[in-house]
Amino acid sequence: MIGYIRNMIKNSAVDGPGNRFVVFLQGCQFNCLYCHNPETIKSITLLTAKEVLEVREYSPKALVDTILPYKDYISGVTFSGGECTLQLPFLMAVCALLKAEGIHILIDTNGHIPLERLKRLCEHVDGFMLDLKALDSKNHKALTGLDNAQVLENFIVLNEAHKLYEIRTVIIPELVDDKALIDWVSAHDGCHLRYKLIAFRNHGVKGEGTKLTPPDTAYMRSIEKYAIQKGFKNIVLI
Ligand code: SF4
Repeated sequence: MIGYIRNMIKNSAVDGPGNRFVVFLQGCQFNCLYCHNPETIKSITLLTAKEVLEVREYSPKALVDTILPYKDYISGVTFSGGECTLQLPFLMAVCALLKAEGIHILIDTNGHIPLERLKRLCEHVDGFMLDLKALDSKNHKALTGLDNAQVLENFIVLNEAHKLYEIRTVIIPELVDDKALIDWVSAHDGCHLRYKLIAFRNHGVKGEGTKLTPPDTAYMRSIEKYAIQKGFKNIVLI
């Protein structure tokens, strides 16, 4: 069994609690207008001969052997991408080995994973960081290329299972129905969650995404205030 790894960071303070070892897996179903890691989107079979040289192949054991020397210096491992759950058998095999070593595991996901697969993964990990990109399906499709029915269903399942470490929304006033999304999360028992509200920034973004307008500080504060009024207590503005 082989996993395709785009990158690794041995010390991250922004990918979960404490100091995280982060593994970025290749491939994503979405094609977000604001993607800051567009090189991770193509699946391995679509990469050019030159691009494929930037992706490393690991067996589950080889990846765990790479991580273990850092065990005493990290709070845990976070799997990201791309969309790491696309390589589910490999991911679950790695997680099983890491769990046997007592390592805390988080999954950074866009949430577009069939429920049965998500439930299987749940058994192997400590928590998830879930992107909620938009509430309205049309907005979500305009932003990512796909609709969000699966994402919303998975939010409910993960929340009920107490497996959500964090949810995140990138705020783009012209495209993201932020208040409706906050209302929806609030109405689905999500106010206790850590909610990261991220101001869209267009540096590093390519194509159509460069035409989108970033929110100013006043707008971000107004969204934070709205979320507080709805009952959220743990909001992180970025
Ligand atoms: S889900 Fe993440 S990795 Fe995939 S396209 Fe969107 S921003 Fe990029």
